[in-house]
Amino acid sequence: MLQSLPILNLDDAKFECTFGRGCDGVCCREGRPPVYPDEIDNLTANLDKFLPLLRPEARAVVARHGFLTPRRRRVGQPVLRVAGGWCVFFNHGCVLHQVGAQEGDKLRYKPCVCALFPIEQDQHDRWYIRQKGYKRERWDLFCLNPCNTAVPARESLRDEIALAKRFDDEEKAASSSAPVATT
Ligand code: SF4
Ligand code: SF4
Repeated sequence: MLQSLPILNLDDAKFECTFGRGCDGVCCREGRPPVYPDEIDNLTANLDKFLPLLRPEARAVVARHGFLTPRRRRVGQPVLRVAGGWCVFFNHGCVLHQVGAQEGDKLRYKPCVCALFPIEQDQHDRWYIRQKGYKRERWDLFCLNPCNTAVPARESLRDEIALAKRFDDEEKAASSSAPVATT
């Protein structure tokens, strides 16, 4: 039997994304997600697909300065650039998501932090669901407040939990195959 992913607060967490039903995508306004080297390569190699779909001001910024803000870093990685107050890849939704979905895989281009949201790992690599009042959550998003919905995160985040499980398995496989130092 497949083992499920341990998530610290899965039994209590509530989550409902209301994008297009009251939320205009505010997580993409304030997010500035970090992007990892393989994700940067993937975005760079496919940038011509995304550019025509960006907001004009975002397209101009990306064409001139690129899609990263190198001076800001999160978890040691550069973050996506913002134009006009929104992630450069936001245009009535995530352009990376839209292009990926058209090609049959909505996560093909999306940074893993965005794809997993609101699931994260803490400093001890334990998975948890971001919730107001839990682990000193500082992002005051409506959807992170469990009082605002009755939908169990266990149901609404099935895809994200499956993705986190995949990442977790890959991390464990990579660490178990890493050479052990001998002294
Ligand atoms: S995850 Fe939250 S902030 Fe982002 S679009 Fe959904 S409801 Fe809005
Ligand atoms: S990459 Fe997409 S999902 Fe992530 S912040 Fe930018 S627009 Fe939003």
